[in-house]
Amino acid sequence: MTLHETKTKIIHFRYKKAPRSDFNFKCVDMSISFDNAYRYLGLHINELMEHKYTIRVITKSASRALSAVYTKFLSCGGMSFDVYTKLYKTLIKPVLLHGAGLWGHNNWREVQTIQNKACRLFIGCSSNASNIAVSGDMGFKTTNSAELLETYRLFLRVRYTYDYRITHKVHMWGMNISRLWDKKCYEIAYKLGIKDIIDSQYSNRHKIYDIKTKLYEIEKQEWVEKLYQDRNEPNGNKLRTYRLYKNELETSSYLKNVNDRQHRRILSNFRSGCLPLAIETGRYAKPKTLLNDRKCKYCTVDCVEDEKHFLMHCEFYSDLRYSLFLKASAINQNLNDFNHDDKFIFLMSYDSM
Ligand SMILES: [Zn+2]
Repeated sequence: MTLHETKTKIIHFRYKKAPRSDFNFKCVDMSISFDNAYRYLGLHINELMEHKYTIRVITKSASRALSAVYTKFLSCGGMSFDVYTKLYKTLIKPVLLHGAGLWGHNNWREVQTIQNKACRLFIGCSSNASNIAVSGDMGFKTTNSAELLETYRLFLRVRYTYDYRITHKVHMWGMNISRLWDKKCYEIAYKLGIKDIIDSQYSNRHKIYDIKTKLYEIEKQEWVEKLYQDRNEPNGNKLRTYRLYKNELETSSYLKNVNDRQHRRILSNFRSGCLPLAIETGRYAKPKTLLNDRKCKYCTVDCVEDEKHFLMHCEFYSDLRYSLFLKASAINQNLNDFNHDDKFIFLMSYDSM
C-alpha cells in the first residue's frame, strides 16, 4: 500500500503546555510529517483545538462571501431590502455560523463585526454611525443569539438521544467536568434562564422554539438598555434623538420603502445623528464645542443646530419643508394640534412619510 505523500499528515491534539510528540510516524518506508491544523467537515481545527483559530478562518471566508454579494449589489445598481436580506441569510450567514454549535457558547465579537459590516454596506451609513442604530434599523438579531441557538440545538441532540450511543455517553461524562463544553453550556443556560426549558418534558423541537423566543426577548431588552446607556454623559449619548421615535428592535420601514441608495444613506445618517449638523461636528471639533454653542450657521434664530432644528425650524430649508408638511397634514388632519416634539416623532416614525 502506498500513501499520498503530501496529503498524509499527522496531527497531535493536545493542551497548550504539552509539547508536540517527537515520535517518527511511518508507513512502510515513508515517514509522515506533522501538521498543525486540520479541516474536518469544513471546520478548521488546529492542534490545540483553539476556537479563535476556527473563528479566524470562518470570518475570513464569510468576509469573502460578503464581498462577492456586495460586488453584485453594486453591479446591479442596488437591491431591495428583501433581496439583500435573502442573499445575506443564504450566502453569508451559513458560512458565518458554520459549526456554531461547537464554538457558539462564547460570544465572538469578530462574527458580529461581519454582520454589522453587511448591515452598514446595505444602509450606506457613515463609519461613525452607532452599531445600535444600525442593527436597530435593520432589525437583525445579533449573531450571538444565533450562535447560542445552534449550541443548544446540538446540546439537546446529544443529551436526549439513545443512552447507548457514544455521543450521549461522552456528553454525560462531560457534564461533570467544568472546563468541558457540556458543562459550560449548561451553566450558561442557567444564567440565561433557559435551564428549565432544557430540563422540561417537551420534545426537542418545542424546546428549541422556546429557547429561541427567550433569547429574542433577552436580546430586545439588551438593545433597549444599550440605547439608553449614557455612560455618564450629561447630554445623553448620540442616540438621544433616535430613541424618541425608535424603541423596538424591528426593521425600520424606510429601508423597505426607500430604494434609492443615496436617499437611504442620508436618511439613515440623519436618523442615527451622523449628518454634518453643528451638533455632530461640534463633537469632533478641537477643542470640543460645548453643546449649547453648536449653533446653526444658516439662519438668524440663535439655536443649536440639531436634528429637530434642521427638520422642523431652520428658516434656511423652509421652502423644502412646506411640501413635507403639506403631505404630513394630508395624512394626519390633527397634525397642527401636535406640539413640536410630537410632530417630529410623527414625521420620523410614520411609515408613509
Ligand atoms: Zn437654522
